Amino acid sequence: MTTIFDKILSGQIPCDEVFSDNKCLAFKDITPQAPTHILIIPRKPIKSLKDITKEDQELLGHLLLKGTEIANAAGLESWRTIINTGEEAGQTVFHLHIHIIGGRKLSWPPG
Ligand code: AMP
Repeated sequence: MTTIFDKILSGQIPCDEVFSDNKCLAFKDITPQAPTHILIIPRKPIKSLKDITKEDQELLGHLLLKGTEIANAAGLESWRTIINTGEEAGQTVFHLHIHIIGGRKLSWPPG
């Protein structure tokens, strides 16, 4: 099934791009939950963390590394890295994505 993120990757829908390489794309969340709210998605169409395999190990490390680089470039001292997995956990787009959220005090535990 085609998701909105597949459409962003193919250029059918625009995004506010932050970073791009041959493995991933990072862009600003359309409904930011904090002053900085960036999504990092793999170009590979993986639905969620439920669907990863050993083959994805390097890609997942790459996404996390880019997350740190993006957070640093945004000037964040603290941030939260979130991967919602499954509907009950709040996943609404079924193309794996990492949220980088920061720029304000974040509460814990999450709702
Ligand atoms: P999740 O709830 O973890 O699946 O996160 C999906 C995120 O995608 C939400 O934070 C949405 O605000 C964001 N989102 C949905 N459509 C777009 C879009 N066209 N551009 C940027 N972010 C989007």
